[in-house]
Amino acid sequence: MQIQCCVCRKIREGGAWAAPTGEQGDEAVSHGYCPICAAEAFAEMRGRLHHKPPPERIQPHAATRPRS
Ligand SMILES: [Zn+2]
Repeated sequence: MQIQCCVCRKIREGGAWAAPTGEQGDEAVSHGYCPICAAEAFAEMRGRLHHKPPPERIQPHAATRPRS
């Protein structure tokens, strides 16, 4: 099974990540994150945790949720 990065579309080949050749054949592809995109996604998640949006940016439907 191949693993393809769902962000930059690179495909893991052995221990390396390479750009897709356009021919993936019938081999099953599992989507994940390459190390670079995983680091960026993780940093983004941390950033969101530490930088909550101001109240006015919260979606209307989210404002109807009961306060915890
Ligand atoms: Zn990637």
